[in-house]
Amino acid sequence: MDTSAVPDRELRKATVARKKHPGYRCPGKQRDGNYALSVGIPTACFSGEQLRQLADVVDKYAKVGHLSTAQSLIIVGIPEDLYYKARQAVLDAGFDVRSIGRDVRQVKCCPGADFSPFGLQRTFPLATALEEAFRGLPTPLKFKISVSGCPNCCANTKLNDFGIHGTVDGWKVFVGGKMGTVPVIAEELASGVSSDDIPKYLAAVLRVYRKEAQPDERLAKTVSRVGLSTFTEDVVSQLDTSFDDLVQTAKEAREKAMASQCIGPLENGKEDC
Ligand code: SF4
Repeated sequence: MDTSAVPDRELRKATVARKKHPGYRCPGKQRDGNYALSVGIPTACFSGEQLRQLADVVDKYAKVGHLSTAQSLIIVGIPEDLYYKARQAVLDAGFDVRSIGRDVRQVKCCPGADFSPFGLQRTFPLATALEEAFRGLPTPLKFKISVSGCPNCCANTKLNDFGIHGTVDGWKVFVGGKMGTVPVIAEELASGVSSDDIPKYLAAVLRVYRKEAQPDERLAKTVSRVGLSTFTEDVVSQLDTSFDDLVQTAKEAREKAMASQCIGPLENGKEDC
């Protein structure tokens, strides 16, 4: 079996440039010269009708659908002249087109106590609330969130920037996890946190990250540089601060991104969002 591939350095460079911007939506040109769309699937749940509509988009405009590790569906192999038709069909099916840029990404979650025999907390309501409030908020580098219903952490909770898992008495909160060339296991920030207080923790972590991060710094590096205890103290001191401003900023960023050309197949990393 030959699995070799020739590196395409120019294509890689253009893709990296695209990902430097908050809200950027289009993964750009793929290796086959076509384009791709990342379809958001909140809580990774869908109806049969929604799945049929997405299947129609794949059949009509693309080559194949690929389930991403972030629980999005990537529709791959869309010719440039069909890109906007495919995108509209995705929106008409009730889905959103997701970011590949520097912002809060779609919340990843396991089935939790609604379905899993091991679940200690329900994941769907909390994942939905976090996503609706914070997705799209610009951050120094991408920011991933994971919600698991028990310590088994099937949603890779400790490999995300902000991860929580259910316990018998609430949620444990972890910060600073990531995959990539140098994976980092997240560190515990708090335990026994109620569902109502989790958005306060996320808001405080985002606020401290946006304040403390150096340019191009992922949260794992910020926590490591500042020190977990200092970072935690800063977060705890912000817990009673209203986060209405962050929610409003996230909402405006989502609307701006969807209204601008940064959702489309622009070349050479060019963007206007
Ligand atoms: S993390 Fe726990 S609740 Fe979630 S799917 Fe895994 S075993 Fe089930």
